[in-house]
Amino acid sequence: MFRLDVTMAIFLYLTSSLLAIFALWIFFERKAVLPKFVREKADVWECTICAYTYVDSKHHEISQCPQCKSYNKKSPEERLL
Ligand SMILES: [Zn+2]
Repeated sequence: MFRLDVTMAIFLYLTSSLLAIFALWIFFERKAVLPKFVREKADVWECTICAYTYVDSKHHEISQCPQCKSYNKKSPEERLL
């Protein structure tokens, strides 16, 4: 039988506690499903003047470019996307 002094007992207690917390952390982190942020294709606009790509989900027909302030219109095939 080996001798167990106080410092070794504290060390073993802390180490086992940290290992248990780490194992639980890994276990629950694997289950967590991160939310996916998918932007609709119709909300993405590309300016015809300055070629700046931006997102505008409020307007569907005509949108104003935030960079050059010109108005852009969706082409009919883009509107279907
Ligand atoms: Zn622009």
